[in-house]
Amino acid sequence: MTDDKRKPEWVPENGGSEYASSVVRGVDGGHDGISAESGREPVRRPVSRRRELSVDDHVAGVLAGDRTTLGRTITLVESNSLRHEALAQDVLRQLLHRTGQSIRVGITGVPGAGKSTFIEALGNYLIGQGYRVAVLAVDPTSSITRGSVLGDKVRMPTLARDERCFIRPSPSGGTLGGVARKTRETILVCEAAGYDVILVETVGVGQSEITVRSMVDFFLLLKIAGAGDELQGIKKGVMELADAVAVNKADGANRSAAEAARAEYERALHYLAPATPGWQTPALLCSALEKTGIAGIWEVVRTFRRETGASGLFHQRRLDQTREWMHDMIREHLQRRFYQDQTVREALPAIEQAVTRGNLPVTRAVRRLLDLFEKSTTE
Ligand code: GDP
Repeated sequence: MTDDKRKPEWVPENGGSEYASSVVRGVDGGHDGISAESGREPVRRPVSRRRELSVDDHVAGVLAGDRTTLGRTITLVESNSLRHEALAQDVLRQLLHRTGQSIRVGITGVPGAGKSTFIEALGNYLIGQGYRVAVLAVDPTSSITRGSVLGDKVRMPTLARDERCFIRPSPSGGTLGGVARKTRETILVCEAAGYDVILVETVGVGQSEITVRSMVDFFLLLKIAGAGDELQGIKKGVMELADAVAVNKADGANRSAAEAARAEYERALHYLAPATPGWQTPALLCSALEKTGIAGIWEVVRTFRRETGASGLFHQRRLDQTREWMHDMIREHLQRRFYQDQTVREALPAIEQAVTRGNLPVTRAVRRLLDLFEKSTTE
């Protein structure tokens, strides 16, 4: 192999000379034939071992509930390549009429609260009830750790083996916005494939809960007793996003502490604005390990679905979410284009300096940058 051949075929858009200068020969394409990682269209595309599916193949396979095609379609949706994006949008457009039939449930909680154990218990319960369950994750840190790829089989062993359940780890999107877009579209693909409960898991570390709240119908917050909230006075924030709070690990010696925490949350919730107007967020108890309280929690989700469905709120929230999603994407696109614009990039350091030194008012600085951007985009 000559030196020339060992140069990478693509580099990230912002990749400078510090980016990798050589590559090792590896397998062609990603694990199901499409590279989900490429930030750019490759100049020379690697020869795929598997035939690339056409739009019709993707659509037919997903609608037939074929798991292999479903996996490949999600990989397509998750791809950062512009060509894949165009293909994915054609596929999505044809799937849209078969989406929206599921109930989308977000589940959050701090690491160690028992999310994986709970999803395993709830997922198995739902399968027993005749549902088909998809488990998706929104973990903005996974692009760094990539931990969840292997982890899910260990985290949810029985669910991962069950044909009626489809588990997809968090996409590696770089930004939370990127991960969120891919997860939203993955929800739609899973719905078209016939999954009627979509569980979206996220770690309780801040912004990602707000993102998941904006893509689900019902949001469940898992808590454990003794984590500090009850003593410090209960923090608002995430509590105000929740349609139910469940204190997990209500078993063994921990049961009475869990019951005390539950009562405390119940009192606190009366003082908080409800996440869904007209719905009093309940505080519940469960043990994911002993599988108690799981059916009760699902009953709450069903009641919520019934009541918000009857009042029109369920449908209205979905419309609002779709509209918000569109505006989020517009904002992201504009922001990316602004910061990648050559004129803006060249002018920014000096303007920033003038602002921080107090020589230029912020409003004037912004106006100047936007003028530069507008001029460079209309040229
Ligand atoms: P995650 O980080 O939120 O996904 O939490 P895990 O599901 O990995 O659980 C963290 C630890 O808590 C594991 O050791 C679980 O076995 C344990 N755990 C989870 N649920 C329960 C429960 O209901 N009762 C008890 N006693 N332990 C639990």
